[in-house]
Amino acid sequence: MKITIIGAGIIGVTSAYFLAKDGHEVEVIERQDGPALETSFANAGMLTPSMVDPWNSPGILGTLLTSLVTGHSAFVLRPKAVPTMIEWGLRFLSHSRKKKFYENLHRSADLACYSMKVLKQLQGDLSFEFDHLDTGSLKIFRDQQSLDDAAKKSESLFDHDMTFRVVTGKELLEIDPSLTHCAEELCGGLYFPDDHAGNAYSFTCEIEKAAKQLGVTFRYGVSVDKILKENGRISKIGTSVGAIECDQLVLAAGSYSTPLAKEVGINIPVRPAKGYSLSIPMKGWNAGPKMPINDDDFHAAVTPLGDTLRAAGTAEFAGLDPSLDRARLDALYDLVKDLYPDFYETIDRTEVAEWAGLRPLSLDGSPYLGKTEIENLYINTGHGPLGWTMACGSAQMLADIIAGKETALNKSAYDIKRA
Ligand SMILES: Cc1cc2nc3c(=O)[nH]c(=O)nc-3n(C[C@H](O)[C@H](O)[C@H](O)COP(=O)(O)OP(=O)(O)OC[C@H]3O[C@@H](n4cnc5c(N)ncnc54)[C@H](O)[C@@H]3O)c2cc1C
Repeated sequence: MKITIIGAGIIGVTSAYFLAKDGHEVEVIERQDGPALETSFANAGMLTPSMVDPWNSPGILGTLLTSLVTGHSAFVLRPKAVPTMIEWGLRFLSHSRKKKFYENLHRSADLACYSMKVLKQLQGDLSFEFDHLDTGSLKIFRDQQSLDDAAKKSESLFDHDMTFRVVTGKELLEIDPSLTHCAEELCGGLYFPDDHAGNAYSFTCEIEKAAKQLGVTFRYGVSVDKILKENGRISKIGTSVGAIECDQLVLAAGSYSTPLAKEVGINIPVRPAKGYSLSIPMKGWNAGPKMPINDDDFHAAVTPLGDTLRAAGTAEFAGLDPSLDRARLDALYDLVKDLYPDFYETIDRTEVAEWAGLRPLSLDGSPYLGKTEIENLYINTGHGPLGWTMACGSAQMLADIIAGKETALNKSAYDIKRA
């Protein structure tokens, strides 16, 4: 089968790899000059099935209303995004009912856990380096109520064979001694020993190389303007270098999948949730974190990736605007200052790579993947804050759906029809 994929982020590239492995002729169209240069470029690097609880948890409405008033919360809604957010936002909020929330959490947990298995298998099949850590991860708390609430949510992950421990402030230090400076502020945390981390950009570049060896063609610097439908099928895509004929099309363009699909009457309910990161050179500093550390108050995390400390998080609804907001970046510097005051004093901001990416956020925390109502149009998008964690499993599932094989998870649970 000849398959065209739009997007060479982590989702498009892993999809290309598994499709080529099945023997298909695959071509990837990407507007950037290489793989993973948009949202998959500088994320927090966490491979954390432990974090599958969707953002629209019970109580989200209060958090969002506070953010509208203060403008300084972890969630920010910019006025310019409001018109595209009203209907979607109401549907998003409707998923915060307790029953829905847990249903959504389990669907995402299934995919995240499966994805980690597929990633492990890939590591066995291919030999590559991506600053991989298998240390587990920590979530730290400054107030007991938040810790208790989070522990309660995590208990339901036992259904997925995911373990965690509630740990005291003292135990936190035993697990990651880098927390010495802020230990007194912390009431405790959650330790997830099975979590991993790694550099999503390096990983995508490695998979891109492996996909090329399987014969995948990557056409970089080519922007898709529109998708064209004739006689109920996708016939071609209009691009910056002219029309490209399509036999089968996979849309894996992250947040941009929604406007592209709209052209052919497919509504993908994904909205961009901008997040920020700092990549800070550690220059041999060895008193830093040994694993991803999630700070509940900052809604952000620090992860050691090789000789870089990645601080990432926060969510801003500002449409498809990729620009950097100083206050959001400063909130991440504040996190680093709070956790590592001595290291913070040594930071030369001219050496820090400041970045933002648009998480493609679905209504319920899981991606939309599989066939659409147009016979030869498939999608793989909407992975939101966990696209790195869910990438390999989603790509394998998509390849299995296209091959007509049995999928490891119930494919209808991830189908766009559920939206
Ligand atoms: C701050 C932050 C922290 C995060 N931390 C984590 C984490 O720790 N763990 C985790 O699992 N996930 C994390 N994520 C989420 C994860 O990064 C995303 O879910 C994932 O990168 C989405 O991948 P994608 O391939 O769908 O999108 P993208 O990486 O954006 O790829 C889409 C590609 O499509 C291309 N494209 C779009 N439109 C067109 C067009 N018209 N023509 C041609 N090409 C086009 C783009 O250039 C892009 O390369 C984080 C995200 C952010 C922003």
